[in-house]
Amino acid sequence: MEDEYNRAGRIASPIPLPIIKIEMETSDIATIWLQVPTKLAAEYKPGQYFMCWNPYDSNGGMSERNHNSEKPYSVGDIMIDTSKIDSKTAADSGKSGRALIGFTIKNLGRQSGDLTKMKCGDWLALRGPFGTTFPAIESSSTLLLVSGGIGSTPMHMAAFAARQKLGSKVVIHAIMGFRNEDETHYVSRMEEVSDTVTITTDDGSQGIHGYP
Ligand SMILES: Cc1cc2nc3c(=O)[nH]c(=O)nc-3n(C[C@H](O)[C@H](O)[C@H](O)COP(=O)(O)OP(=O)(O)OC[C@H]3O[C@@H](n4cnc5c(N)ncnc54)[C@H](O)[C@@H]3O)c2cc1C
Repeated sequence: MEDEYNRAGRIASPIPLPIIKIEMETSDIATIWLQVPTKLAAEYKPGQYFMCWNPYDSNGGMSERNHNSEKPYSVGDIMIDTSKIDSKTAADSGKSGRALIGFTIKNLGRQSGDLTKMKCGDWLALRGPFGTTFPAIESSSTLLLVSGGIGSTPMHMAAFAARQKLGSKVVIHAIMGFRNEDETHYVSRMEEVSDTVTITTDDGSQGIHGYP
């Protein structure tokens, strides 16, 4: 996979990757963490997405190829997992951790329903990254990031990248809209990288009562 990424600047044909970790954000929203080449995680730009291909057939096996199961998902989070690295010998052994990217998926239908039920150790295949990116952020900028529902995930990556690049030289205000309190997600992730986070819900069950 690393070779293919280096050759094409993207993963050109679906390559299955093991699911390393699953986090349930709400009862029907899951973040699926996959290990990817470190270079891909470093070069990924906020706003881009990957085509995610579910290799399992309707019986849970892989004997029939599931050609219609590919849909686009935005990257919601990136991390370097150092959990199995001994910090005392990491520099000597050249091991600094593995790069993981997280897709946050809301169970809405066929593909998202299958993906949100996946378990650690299952496989998910990726192609990409694809798509345009957010404009470059200069220092002294103020970012106002407004999201609705599952649109929180690319906005988190915009804030994460701006904070990583510019530190305190950028001011970030996030406004996150949700249907109700049970659907809120990514709030603590957003708080970690933003100066202010304002929540609105359609029914007023959390934050500002938004849509009438
Ligand atoms: C660039 C991009 C990035 C995206 N990023 C994300 C992301 O980060 N996270 C995320 O969760 N999604 C994301 N999406 C959306 C995602 O690609 C899928 O569209 C979504 O997961 C729904 O796919 P599905 O197969 O589960 O739903 P489908 O089965 O295609 O259903 C979609 C909708 O149609 C309705 N529906 C299905 N069948 C019927 C029917 N017979 N009659 C009436 N209504 C029906 C469903 O109830 C549902 O509301 C992104 C989309 C794009 C284009």
